[in-house]
Amino acid sequence: MRRVYLDNNATTPILPEVFEAMKPYFGEHFGNASSIHHHGQETRAAVERARESVAGLLGCQASEIVFTSGGTEADNLAIFGVLSEVLTAGVAGSHVITSTVEHHAVLNACKRLATLGCDVTYLPVDGQGQVDPDDVRRTLRPSTKLITIMMANNETGVVQPVEEIGKTAAEGGVRFHTDAVQAVGKVPVDVGRCGCDLLTLSGHKIHAPQGVGALYVKKGLQLRPMLYGGSHERSRRAGTENVPGIVALGKAAELARQSLDAGGGRTMATMRDRLQTAVSEAVEATGVNGGRSPRVPNTTSIYFDYIEGESLVIALDLKGLAVSTGAACSSGAIEPSHVLMAMGLEPDRARASIRFSLGKQNTAEDVDFAISLIPQVVGRLRELSPVGKVLGGN
Ligand code: PLP
Repeated sequence: MRRVYLDNNATTPILPEVFEAMKPYFGEHFGNASSIHHHGQETRAAVERARESVAGLLGCQASEIVFTSGGTEADNLAIFGVLSEVLTAGVAGSHVITSTVEHHAVLNACKRLATLGCDVTYLPVDGQGQVDPDDVRRTLRPSTKLITIMMANNETGVVQPVEEIGKTAAEGGVRFHTDAVQAVGKVPVDVGRCGCDLLTLSGHKIHAPQGVGALYVKKGLQLRPMLYGGSHERSRRAGTENVPGIVALGKAAELARQSLDAGGGRTMATMRDRLQTAVSEAVEATGVNGGRSPRVPNTTSIYFDYIEGESLVIALDLKGLAVSTGAACSSGAIEPSHVLMAMGLEPDRARASIRFSLGKQNTAEDVDFAISLIPQVVGRLRELSPVGKVLGGN
């Protein structure tokens, strides 16, 4: 059976060039990057090359990159790294600003901060999924220690006005972290332009393997480590480096940069828009969530009224098309997406929403396959729903 994978916001396949680059570090180049002999020096050099490459993608210095085990760890390191100082000093009423549409890596870290006595403001988003930068300005307090607002949403692809938020943060002398896991590699990201002090990225969203990521930490920012051990990563993240993963991340960053320079984002957006338009035209009672906001070029979230999103995911999978209801971790849960609910969707419509996310490996034929399949599968499912039956699916 033909299988097409349009769930690249959950994870991406490792590109062949990336796999080739990391392979020797499982075999002949096995050294511990902290060892001073030949074997260690070889892997140390590879880790530092990868650091240069990731820094090149973000427009920062190599020394500002801290390798982690992924996006979740980088988000936690940013949030607790900035806040731990005040928390351990027992400063009551420290304040953090975030948004209602963050990934759980940020939301649950903020929830933990709240249990430790920190005040957390969850800024709302508008119907198109965007935070109002004026809300950030209005919410700032003298006790605000951190603003953490994502660059691009994993479910809708909606891009937040991070540059304006960065300016507000700088004016207020407040640290600004952005979770850019779903933006890096899809749109140009420059930490200077964005005005952030900390930025998260994850390897497996840019065609490197799962279990590796990085945190950009602006020069001079004192970050409390979360792990205590050796002085790896300039004492910001203890633990022997995941050399094959880091080498892969470096290669993926290099390829992402080349592809962005060559206009890869525009090609991706053309495919995504074709999919979105064809599906919307062929199927009644659909709409694009956040479609009027700026979005990363690979993502579209579409609702199919009178359908249970989970059922549609399963029905499409049986025909060979892999998509998702949104955040991978919430698949299987009955709760509607917190992101779509925050945008004001009714629970039924939120549950009827499907995320399509393209990757570098996808072709125009993959999009044709999806376009040919979706109307018939939606039609069949609507036959089973009393209201959907009236629409007949198309
Ligand atoms: N932040 C966002 C926006 C994500 O989409 C994800 C993963 O889905 C993460 C953080 C977590 O990254 P990782 O899977 O590398 O821990």
